[in-house]
Amino acid sequence: MHRSIFGSRKPWTMLIGLFIAACAVGLWSSTTVAQAPPAETNTPVCAIQLVQPAITNKSSFPIYQVIKDAGVARLGPDDDCARLTPLPKGTKARVIITAEGPNKSRQLVPWSQLDYGAWIESSELILANTPALVNAQLTNVSTRALAEATEIVFPLSSAVPIQVAQADRSFSLTLHNTSSTIQTLTENNRVQKWGNTVKFTNPVVDRATWQKVGTDAIRFNFLLKPKQQWGYRLRYEGNTLVLALRQPPKITSNISQPLKGIKIVVDPGHGKEDSGALGTAKGVTYMEKVLNLQLSTELQQELQKRGAIVTMTRSTDLNPSLEDRQVIINQTAPALSISIHHNASDREAKGTSIYWYHHQSQSLATSVLNYFAREGKRPILNSGVIEKSFAVARPTFAPAVLLEVGFMTSPEEVFDLAQPATQQRLAKVLANGIQQWVIDRAIG
Ligand SMILES: [Zn+2]
Repeated sequence: MHRSIFGSRKPWTMLIGLFIAACAVGLWSSTTVAQAPPAETNTPVCAIQLVQPAITNKSSFPIYQVIKDAGVARLGPDDDCARLTPLPKGTKARVIITAEGPNKSRQLVPWSQLDYGAWIESSELILANTPALVNAQLTNVSTRALAEATEIVFPLSSAVPIQVAQADRSFSLTLHNTSSTIQTLTENNRVQKWGNTVKFTNPVVDRATWQKVGTDAIRFNFLLKPKQQWGYRLRYEGNTLVLALRQPPKITSNISQPLKGIKIVVDPGHGKEDSGALGTAKGVTYMEKVLNLQLSTELQQELQKRGAIVTMTRSTDLNPSLEDRQVIINQTAPALSISIHHNASDREAKGTSIYWYHHQSQSLATSVLNYFAREGKRPILNSGVIEKSFAVARPTFAPAVLLEVGFMTSPEEVFDLAQPATQQRLAKVLANGIQQWVIDRAIG
């Protein structure tokens, strides 16, 4: 059974829905959204890219506020639709349509489309007790230096939805529902006029430009000083948006402890009732959760020998939730995070692969995998370095990768990877690879 996107119980959303469908051509190629589980149909429900719905009477729609720390914005009313930049708690936007769509557990729940085009589960919003706003105003941007990051402060007149895009030496931030003109940059109480471009005097940003995007958004482009981005965090303090851009970590030239003081999170996958993948070799059945923890513990010791301060997401047979693991990464604010898993396939497959999601994690993934293959003499699976939205690769404040060491389902590989001697050897290689990447990019 298909459910119409207009099948809401509230008459006003039905009317709005009809209006939007007429305007937002191209947002969906079908007017139907997800159906009940198993929902394995070809019905397209996700937009390919963000399209701002055409509405003429913007101020007549109710304003809602994000109540989750990072509201999950997507390209359609379905948990399977691609993610957009999460919305910091406190973000306000107009809801222009509601629809039912599947959540993470594939149960139908209400979703809301916000005025800039993204969808969010309605349970992550509350009605904001705010008078109707015109687009937000912003005329000055300021910076403040912290020990490990530079904060860029945007004192907006309303907490607008945002979007981030990253490239090698640039970081772009789009502020939706904003239509003002930036006039000044304030750094350490020094105010300078913002012309076409403005030069910054801090360790992370070299210079920046801004431009209007359509009628309802402005976009900042920050050109960065460090070659390697080290992550970022966005939050609202009232209506003021704060962007923290991390600086590369500082290392001391300590030959015996080259990673002295560097914080690293090691995350052994699965645990407790979740065994992960199973593999059998020579009559013995191995559980992925056990191999993950064994290799992670060896890696922890190798990194500690090099002076690193290691935080494990689990050290015993426990299974913290993916959210708990994300919280540990976010709260630790490490120099990097690595999750350890072992792969499975119903076909014959062997080899190592590594996954990254945010721009700052890509070079860590590439260099650790290459090092692991070369020095650890491990075969690489297909392309090896893969962009994928794994939960433990999604924290933005540190480079974070997920390593699939080898295949539980290959008897030959699982037997080898379960041997303590192999685990010790690979942990050493992995620690050397991580050390090399950090030293090449840290501030010496
Ligand atoms: Zn796994």
